[in-house]
Amino acid sequence: MTDFTMQKDADGVAIITWDVPGKSMNVLSRDAFATVEALLDDALSDDAVKGIVITSGKKDFAGGMDLNVLATIRDQAGDDPARALFDFTMEGHRILRKLERAGADPKTNKGGKPVACAIPGLAAGIGTEIALACHHRVMAEGKGRIGLPEIMVGLFPGGGGTTRYSRMVGAMAAAPVLLEGKMLDPARAKSAGLIDAVVPANDLMQAAKDWVLNAGPADIVKPWDQKGWKMPGGAPYHPAGFMTFVGASAMVNGQTQGVFPAARALLSAIYEGALVPFDTALKIEARWFTSVLMDPTSTAMIRSLFINKQALEKGANRPDAPDQSVRRLGVLGAGMMGAGIAYVAANAGIDVVLLDQDQDAADRGRAHSESLLDKGIQRKKVTPEKKAQVMGRITATTDYEALKGCDLIVEAVFEDIGVKAQVTKAVDAVTDADCIFATNTSTLPIGELAKASKDAGNFIGIHFFSPVDKMLLVEIIKGEATGDRAVAKALDFVRQIRKTPIVVNDARFFYANRCIIPYINEGVRMVKEGVEPALIENAAKLLGFPLGPLQLVDETSIDLGVKIAKATRAGMGDAYPDAEVDEVLFWLADQGRLGRKAGAGFYTYDDKGKRGLLWDGLEGQYPVAGDQPDLTRVQHRLMMAQVLEAVRAFEQGVLEDIREGDVGAVLGWGFAPWSGGPFGWLDMIGPARAVAICETLEREYGARFAAPDLLRRIADDGTIFYGRFGGGAAARAA
Ligand code: NAD
Repeated sequence: MTDFTMQKDADGVAIITWDVPGKSMNVLSRDAFATVEALLDDALSDDAVKGIVITSGKKDFAGGMDLNVLATIRDQAGDDPARALFDFTMEGHRILRKLERAGADPKTNKGGKPVACAIPGLAAGIGTEIALACHHRVMAEGKGRIGLPEIMVGLFPGGGGTTRYSRMVGAMAAAPVLLEGKMLDPARAKSAGLIDAVVPANDLMQAAKDWVLNAGPADIVKPWDQKGWKMPGGAPYHPAGFMTFVGASAMVNGQTQGVFPAARALLSAIYEGALVPFDTALKIEARWFTSVLMDPTSTAMIRSLFINKQALEKGANRPDAPDQSVRRLGVLGAGMMGAGIAYVAANAGIDVVLLDQDQDAADRGRAHSESLLDKGIQRKKVTPEKKAQVMGRITATTDYEALKGCDLIVEAVFEDIGVKAQVTKAVDAVTDADCIFATNTSTLPIGELAKASKDAGNFIGIHFFSPVDKMLLVEIIKGEATGDRAVAKALDFVRQIRKTPIVVNDARFFYANRCIIPYINEGVRMVKEGVEPALIENAAKLLGFPLGPLQLVDETSIDLGVKIAKATRAGMGDAYPDAEVDEVLFWLADQGRLGRKAGAGFYTYDDKGKRGLLWDGLEGQYPVAGDQPDLTRVQHRLMMAQVLEAVRAFEQGVLEDIREGDVGAVLGWGFAPWSGGPFGWLDMIGPARAVAICETLEREYGARFAAPDLLRRIADDGTIFYGRFGGGAAARAA
């Protein structure tokens, strides 16, 4: 059985069907292109074949390239991996170019056979690139989406998609698909010029065949293969093209701060490619693609954002337990978090009982779903029927009896141990013995909260991030007594709501907040020292963090920072290390500058809540020192503050799997995505260099920067984290 098969029908159409055996989604394997070429040669040389339709034997067309293939080619290529990757890419170009020319005479452009692509559902990456090489693309109405999302994992479309699509619609129009990785539904894809026709699903094959049988000579020669072709929107030296490229270059650098090489390489491939004939442009694309593949950041991003993210979503660390999919969910507390949790669950088809202390609060929580769905309708992403279905699944109540029959409860009431204990007991009185109880606490120990429960084995933490509907990560926290079924339940629930889980053990601030807080604190501490606030914020931005530490604390609110600081100080006593940080935060809180919600914090905000400049009043209290540290020093402090905490979490067993540490960091708080996460970054700079940086920082700023033993051991051994622990929790135990 091969991934592609061909059948010639009585009308003279050869149908090439992509149907990878044993998989639910087509992905392109290393050898599949050779099969495609053999089938193509057969169809092109057979006089009875008038044209070709490429389609899929599955519900979708293709998910893209198997990214493990690229990693394998690089790893097995000996001392010239770049050559191996370039050759592989060029081989793909050669075959897709053969498909595109379809036997036409290179001089006269005559004699080619039409090739259509019939796309039954999702098409992404190389799947879309194969479709783009065809002469005509037709998609089934309302089924799946199509696009080139490579940029999202640190690559760019390197199978000809960049060169073809930018030449089809022009650099400017291609930007949302190429630079932002937007996936489009069939109707949008048609207006964006990615496909040519949308037809009812039942007519898909017939429509493709009809096109093939009726195509004229002009339909099967791509514009760039015709004399006098000009790039839509203007090539770089055309006045309009010049403006486009200047603008695009500024935009890409502004948005990526120069730390995502793929975006820049993509733009270079389009720019340089636009100046030369098509085949040379493909070669340029292949060179830039190789350069991106050889960049350590692409390895790191593919590993965290694709391979490991998927592994975690598929249950890499799920205990062996029968399916625990949630049927009926109880959410306690219909505030900001509870309302968001109710929405994502109902949206995933789960019946939800949303309970609060009074009916108004419960109704307000339910109305949150309504407003999100209304926004979706405005943007044409949600239909009124879908809204009615989702709203129909949410019952807002104050009555605990309504929780009967729930198999999972997520508690999101006030962050108060007494209130949480009270609701836990009230729930236990009405639910079945096997109902799992989860708390969404950010700061309270799971083991402590579990004491109120009738069965600590069924008690677990499921920690969402705000805003719940947008944030991709969910942190699952095992208390000491938490049983396997509770973990499986939490993981199955997270799978149902299509988020990415990490599973950690119970310790102060769990994993994500444990790392974010030192990042914020290091930024605030620098303010106290007299470091220019703009330097602090820009240093973070230039590392690829979405928010600088001062902006982050404004967003999460300064009074929350004060609250956490007071609780932590009470918990740690004399060992509490952050008095200098508190001085700044407490002072701001005293000034009423509580962050964005108060319209004043480290930043200023206008009447509409739009963020302005850093507040100049800060300097009156914390004067900026004449002597400023260099950028790298500030960046090392901001990075190490988080990264060392991640290493300690792993060393102490809070984190059991470095893959979770990395995926959690990138998805949870936007940790420099190009690095793949804290462990990816340490491997990238090398553990020995990391230790040297720690030694300098420890000398100048104190013991919080002391290299953890584990980091020293890895540096001494000359190994790296992924070399030692990349195989998951089992590798850690070994
Ligand atoms: P919130 O104040 O917006 O909502 C809490 C809700 O719980 C309110 O509607 C309140 O009426 C209700 N409530 C209080 N006592 C109750 C009781 N006895 N019975 C029923 N309902 C009761 O708070 P929030 O921001 O949604 O946070 C809720 C929980 O989630 C807290 O434990 C918090 O630490 C945690 N959390 C918050 C965030 C965040 O960013 N806000 C993030 C992760 C976790």
